[in-house]
Amino acid sequence: MIFKVIAKQELAKLFEALLANRVVGPVRKGSDKNGTPIYSFEVVYDFTQLQLDYTSTQYPAKRFFLPYTETLCTFEIAGDSWEKKVDFNIYQPQVLFGLHACDINALNKLDKVLLESAYPTPYYASKRKNMFIVGIDCEPQPYCFCRSMGTDTALHGFDMFLTDLGKKYFVEIQSAAAYNYLKHMQTSDPTEEDHLRYMAVEEARHEKFMAQVDTTDLTKILDMEFQSEVWKHWGDKCLSCGTCASVCPTCYCYGVAETVDLDLKHAAKMKHLHSCNLIDFAEVAGGHNFRPDSHTRLKYRYYHKHRGFVEAFEESLCVGCGRCGEACLANITVPEVIASVRHEEI
Ligand code: SF4
Ligand code: SF4
Repeated sequence: MIFKVIAKQELAKLFEALLANRVVGPVRKGSDKNGTPIYSFEVVYDFTQLQLDYTSTQYPAKRFFLPYTETLCTFEIAGDSWEKKVDFNIYQPQVLFGLHACDINALNKLDKVLLESAYPTPYYASKRKNMFIVGIDCEPQPYCFCRSMGTDTALHGFDMFLTDLGKKYFVEIQSAAAYNYLKHMQTSDPTEEDHLRYMAVEEARHEKFMAQVDTTDLTKILDMEFQSEVWKHWGDKCLSCGTCASVCPTCYCYGVAETVDLDLKHAAKMKHLHSCNLIDFAEVAGGHNFRPDSHTRLKYRYYHKHRGFVEAFEESLCVGCGRCGEACLANITVPEVIASVRHEEI
């Protein structure tokens, strides 16, 4: 790891240099009914569009590397022969400019399944391997519990990471590409004063976390509470809308559908991200549904995130971003569900 400091105005030059790629970053999309800004990850063409002091985005940047709908392959049929075309749907390297630590950690978790498992997916890998990530420190929101999940800082998975020191950024450099970009900007080695300022900023940030989840022995507790009535309690509230999965930076479950054009000359195989809370998620051919009740589906989501994934990878699949709880119309939040499973006061 190499550390540098860079004046804030120099960052615009870095952005310009990166513009040869597709740059995705946080922009303001409007306000909610209380006047609170709404932010979204979008393709950005001008540095002034970027809102690097954003709170959180409603949706993660997932659609830029794990699209909600993706064509896996197409078929051209002519007479008795047919040709299959596979396109990994990546046309230029992509820069994610301004990811918070939780979203970087979410990518690291997706990598474990989609890049490093026995069956890596080339559609994800092609995008992931052509990615340059500029991380940036965040201001903890009342619903963030990333500190409980150990994802409030990113140790890897980025090219450079910025921490706001006031008039300048403290920069952690993790890749040769980042180092080479910064060679053309005015940077300097951090002074002792910069180190102290960095530590003070981080300490102040840590004190702002409010929401928490007690993960102590959580896998064992989940095993013991598999038949608990709390699942029915939360399941009865759940609308089975699937919003929680669509805003989650680590939900990757999907379904595949094949379509044939009416002229019978073209066909396509499409992938659609799915949600385990949707009523047909566990329905199989013949119409049998292995999870017909909302509480069994909701329970499955929690067991995947906090039980199964931990067993497979020794870490949770939840990064504690709090997006699912903020988006849920039934006000179902991870801290409340886990606390109830632990029989704790909320
Ligand atoms: S967002 Fe809330 S209501 Fe909708 S499926 Fe998820 S938990 Fe259920
Ligand atoms: S389960 Fe909720 S809190 Fe956890 S990573 Fe997904 S959206 Fe964020």
